[in-house]
Amino acid sequence: MDDFWADLLKREERFLASARPEFRHGAPLVSVSSLAEQYYCEYKLENEFAYGEVPTEAKEKGTELHDELIPGVSVTADDFVGLVTKKEPSYAVLRVWGSVGGLRMVGMPDHIVWSAGKPIWLVELKTTRGDPAPLWEDQENQARVYGLLLDLMGLDCSRLRLAVVRVKARELSEEERKLWLVEVSDALMAGKAGELESRKGGRMKVHEMVHDRRLAVRAVTAKAGYWTGAREPTSSTSAGKCRACEYSSVCEKSLAKSV
Ligand code: SF4
Repeated sequence: MDDFWADLLKREERFLASARPEFRHGAPLVSVSSLAEQYYCEYKLENEFAYGEVPTEAKEKGTELHDELIPGVSVTADDFVGLVTKKEPSYAVLRVWGSVGGLRMVGMPDHIVWSAGKPIWLVELKTTRGDPAPLWEDQENQARVYGLLLDLMGLDCSRLRLAVVRVKARELSEEERKLWLVEVSDALMAGKAGELESRKGGRMKVHEMVHDRRLAVRAVTAKAGYWTGAREPTSSTSAGKCRACEYSSVCEKSLAKSV
């Protein structure tokens, strides 16, 4: 393993070991997915801390489909480095981490395509039962912050692009699900995501973005006050969101009860 990767592992170890319960609810670290959830409704996080995570059939099915589309196996650090430093494109994910806007953040992206040690594509998969065409703020910012953390870790992100792929996974055949990861990766690298979307006939939308440090930092700083205690949580202003929320029956801020 060369010096860069050995040093990266040591820095990660130090970063994690020095975490203290300094954020809201005594959290030592803020996950990228929690930050993304703030863009949906900060009160969901409050309810999660108060009542725990509420399992729903939709969530369970979503996780199952997610794992089917992006299967993975654990590898050693040496094998990981050997894989991602090859010149030909390879697929592998790693924990991303770093300090942004006063927060110590960690996260695990869904999928990264590498070439010669550089991340080329960071892909976030979102399964949906609805229209995959819109790109929601929480989904966009999740991908942006993963990209930022890769950058802050010292990886060469000069060619990094981001993609949020929204897919009606239930409507894909078994064969399509098996081939999904390779098909999407190949299409992104060939600049042919639009052709792939056409072949999927409205069941999939690839939202491509350029990695932009400034936008990603802004996405974190806009929400950091919730974690540092600088302000109280905000709640959804959309009755539709509250109706779809698993906490609507217990949430003191729910708009679903009053409509
Ligand atoms: S019920 Fe509404 S306000 Fe409460 S957590 Fe859910 S989305 Fe937020």
